[in-house]
Amino acid sequence: MTMEFTDRLTRVEPSATLAISALATELENDGADVVDLSVGEPDFPTPQNVVDAGQDAMDAGHTGYTTSAGIIDLREAIVDKLADDGLEHTTDEIIVTPGAKQALYEIIQALIGEGDEVALLDPAWVSYEAMVKMAGGDLTRVDLSTSDFQLEPALDDLTEAVSDDTELLIVNSPSNPTGAVYSDAALEGVRDLAVEHDITVISDEIYKEITYGVEPTSLGTLEGMADRTITVNGFSKAYSMTGWRLGYFAGPEELIDQAGKLHSHSVSSAVNFVQHAGIEALENTDDAVSEMVEAFSERRELVVDLLEEHDVDVAVPDGAFYMMLPVDDDDQAWCEGAIEDAHVATVPGSAFGTPGYARISYAASEERLEEGIERLADEGYL
Ligand code: PLP
Repeated sequence: MTMEFTDRLTRVEPSATLAISALATELENDGADVVDLSVGEPDFPTPQNVVDAGQDAMDAGHTGYTTSAGIIDLREAIVDKLADDGLEHTTDEIIVTPGAKQALYEIIQALIGEGDEVALLDPAWVSYEAMVKMAGGDLTRVDLSTSDFQLEPALDDLTEAVSDDTELLIVNSPSNPTGAVYSDAALEGVRDLAVEHDITVISDEIYKEITYGVEPTSLGTLEGMADRTITVNGFSKAYSMTGWRLGYFAGPEELIDQAGKLHSHSVSSAVNFVQHAGIEALENTDDAVSEMVEAFSERRELVVDLLEEHDVDVAVPDGAFYMMLPVDDDDQAWCEGAIEDAHVATVPGSAFGTPGYARISYAASEERLEEGIERLADEGYL
């Protein structure tokens, strides 16, 4: 039997980050000591009180289906969290999902049809492109690599890129893969264009809690943006809960109604006891989050200093736990060589739409970061 797959799917590449991690695991299984700087997950355990809350919820029998949009107590806790960020939502404007990735998938499936135009700010997280293609949409890309990955100096390029045909713009600040946090002036520029051309904007704020001395503004708080912004967030990064699969999106109720159909017919709901643990994560983890962010901050400085010693200048990130290392034009070959020769795993910038760079994740111990950079230098990769 020959199966025929849709063009929408066959034109999508498998996740580059997951592919590199798989290669790293393969080498490790063959006995190599790989310094894995490719991973997009905090190397901290989930805070113990969150684990306990999940366990208690299981013991209390919270193991059945829940309301599709998520248990009301969690949605109320999310409403409070969003209010702290200046965003006003009701529980009817929130869907709890198994991860922010699923939230993004549902929004894009709900809004984008064949030939609809979606604008991305490059480098952009790998799955945006794939999700838009899977929905049948077309991409318009704005390159931020010439402005140290900042949006404000590239507003003219964004102005040229968008039009009345643009359906959706995706903004991710702090950014994966650059760690850039966009200035208020940049976000105001986005707002002006969104209002002028009637564009819906996804604000992916999954790294909002992980910043170094800056306070990112939530796009939906800007005048004129409340009814055209869909805010996405999740528990994976701030609370070190990648494997728990918990996220959410908040937006206008009409979107929630439409996306809610997709949600209920595909995932039913996020896992019941995980949702209970999510309440604990939102309400009682301030100290754990601060400690983690402090550790990332120190590592960020360490990596920037070590790279400087090798005469490599990077755009210093203000958030998340990534930075872009300038490498050869053929970043794919550079990354393959780095993992084969130096046993250091990184992700090629071309996977994010920006060739000539490799993404380094500093969600690794200081010792491993030092080891990784030393190996890259010894093998001639710096
Ligand atoms: N958005 C961005 C920018 C990410 O980097 C990630 C994960 O790496 C996600 C969304 C999805 O996160 P999750 O599905 O683990 O909540």
